[in-house]
Amino acid sequence: MPEVTAPLKAATSASLYTRSNPFPGKLVVNRRLSGPESEKDTRHFEIDLTGWGLSFEVGDSVAVYPTNDPDLVEEIIHALGAKGDEPVAAGKTQKNFREALLRDYSITQPTPKFLKAITRRANSSTLLKDLLQPERKEDLDRYLWGMEVIDFLNEHPSAKFSPEEFVGLLTKLQPRLYSVASSLRVYPEQVHLIVDVVRYESHGRVRKGVASSFLAERADNVPVPVYPSSAKHFHMPENPDTPIIMIGPGTGIAPFRAFLQDRQAVGAKGKNWLYFGAQREKCDYAYKEDFDRFKRDGILTRFDCAWSRDQAHKIYVQHKLLENAAEIWKWLDSEGAQFFVCGDARRMAKDVDAALRKIVQEQGGKSVNDANSYVEKLKSDKRYKRDVY
Ligand SMILES: Cc1cc2nc3c(=O)[nH]c(=O)nc-3n(C[C@H](O)[C@H](O)[C@H](O)COP(=O)(O)OP(=O)(O)OC[C@H]3O[C@@H](n4cnc5c(N)ncnc54)[C@H](O)[C@@H]3O)c2cc1C
Repeated sequence: MPEVTAPLKAATSASLYTRSNPFPGKLVVNRRLSGPESEKDTRHFEIDLTGWGLSFEVGDSVAVYPTNDPDLVEEIIHALGAKGDEPVAAGKTQKNFREALLRDYSITQPTPKFLKAITRRANSSTLLKDLLQPERKEDLDRYLWGMEVIDFLNEHPSAKFSPEEFVGLLTKLQPRLYSVASSLRVYPEQVHLIVDVVRYESHGRVRKGVASSFLAERADNVPVPVYPSSAKHFHMPENPDTPIIMIGPGTGIAPFRAFLQDRQAVGAKGKNWLYFGAQREKCDYAYKEDFDRFKRDGILTRFDCAWSRDQAHKIYVQHKLLENAAEIWKWLDSEGAQFFVCGDARRMAKDVDAALRKIVQEQGGKSVNDANSYVEKLKSDKRYKRDVY
C-alpha cells in the first residue's frame, strides 16, 4: 500500500462525469482473489482514473458501463440471418447492428415485449403463449430462470425479425454498480473494486454476467466507462472518533477496505470492528494481507471471520455476531458505535438484522417491541447503515 498521507483534492467536478457522460477509465489490475479450489471467481480490479477530477467518498459506488460479449452478439446476428452492418436506432443516433448490440442494448434477459413478439411470429410457441397469461407469472419466472434471448431465437427459428425490429424489442444496456473498495486518500488516481464474476450453466450453455465478465475477460485493453454513484446513506461517521462495526461478507467487504484505508490515512481515533465471511479460509480469504496489516498497525481493533464451509455446520457472520453479543451491545449502547452492513440483500442482510435485534433484546434486557424500536431509532439516527444488493 502506498504512503497514506495524501490530503483529498477538492471534489471540484462532482457532476462532470455522469451516466450520460461516463469517464473512460483504464483497467490496470485484474487479479483473481479466490484460489483455484474456490467455487467462486472473485476478482480485484484497479481502474486508473487519471484526469477524472476525483469526486467520490468511501461508501459510494461507481457505475460501470459494460460491453456485451462479442461471441454472443455474433450468435444473435447469425440466428436472425442478419449481416451485422445494417443501420439501426441506438439512443438518439443510428449505428450498425453489431455495434448497437455490443454497446447499447441488453441482449441477455428477455423482455416481455420480446417474448410476446416470439409468440406472434413463431409457429410453435404454445407453451410460451400460455405462460404469458397474467395468472401464470410465477410459472413464467421459473421457466425464464437461466433462459436468455438467444435461447428463444434458436428454439424458434421461424420467428424472424429485421435488425431494426429486433432492437425495438430490447431494452437499453444498463450500467452496473460496484462499491468502491479504496480510498482516494491512499490511491488518489484510482478506484479499486472487488467483484464476483457471474458464470453459470443452464440449458446446456455457459452463461456470463454482462458487466462482471466484461471486467474479468474483455476490459484489459479498452476504456472502462465509469461514473460515480453517491451513497450518502452509507458514509462514515463525520466524527473520526466514533467506533464503527462493519459487517461485510463476500464482496460486501469492498467499502470496509476503503473505510479502513481512509481511517488510517486521516489518523482517525475511532475503534474499528470488522466481520468478514466467505466459504473457505484457504481459498476465499480476500484481502488477507490488507487485514493482517490493518491488525498489525492497530487500525483493526477487532476482526472476526466466518468460514461457512470449513466445518460440517454452516457458520455465517450473524453467528459470529451473536457469539460477541455482550461486546457488540457495549459498543452500540455505551460507546455510540455505528453499525454498517454491506453485501447480499436476499439472505445475509436479513439474518444480520435478526441477530442485531436479538442482541439488543437480550443484552439490553428489552421486550421484542422495545428492541425493535431501539433498532429503528438506530436507523433514524443514522447509526445503522446498509448498502445491500
Ligand atoms: C449498490 C450496489 C453495489 C454493488 N457492489 C458490488 C460489489 O462491490 N461487487 C460485486 O461483485 N457486485 C456488486 N453489486 C452487484 C453488481 O452491480 C452486479 O449486479 C453484478 O456484478 C452482476 O452483474 P453482471 O452484469 O455481471 O450480471 P448480469 O448480466 O446482470 O446477470 C446477473 C443475472 O444473471 C442471472 N443469474 C445469475 N446466476 C444465475 C444462475 N445460477 N442461474 C440462473 N440465472 C442466474 C440472474 O437473473 C441475475 O440477476 C452491487 C450492486 C449494487 C446495487
